Amino acid sequence: MALCPYCSSELPENAKFCTNCGAPLNPSPSDAASSLPEEPQYPAVDYPESLVSDQEVYARPAQQPVTYHPQPAVAPVNTTGLLIWAIITALFSLIPGIVAIVQTTAINKQTTVEAQQQKMRSAKIWCIVGTVLGILVIIGQCGNAL
Ligand SMILES: [Zn+2]
Repeated sequence: MALCPYCSSELPENAKFCTNCGAPLNPSPSDAASSLPEEPQYPAVDYPESLVSDQEVYARPAQQPVTYHPQPAVAPVNTTGLLIWAIITALFSLIPGIVAIVQTTAINKQTTVEAQQQKMRSAKIWCIVGTVLGILVIIGQCGNAL
């Protein structure tokens, strides 16, 4: 004989519900075993997957701006004035003028601002060298003519 824990009525041994108040009694071990292991498995499978995918989603956009940042900083430079000077330099003295033209056309092919400024500096130096050489040659010819 068993007693209902709620109303203390006397019950048959194998009763699942109290015949007096209807309360559920002593759940069988098979019911407890089937319900317990299933519940912890769902969070163990779901949470690691969502955490990994979240990390990948947030990690990739964070890395891309770091690599893309330097590229928009290299804006095309207006080299028209420098190119005209280099062509005029080539008319005075051919070799420094051609070097200046090559350096000027290479300015906007550079991938960093530093390389761009370096090309522009060397193009200006070759322009100055060619112009000075050309003026010296003209002065020398004028001197010979006199
Ligand atoms: Zn009862």
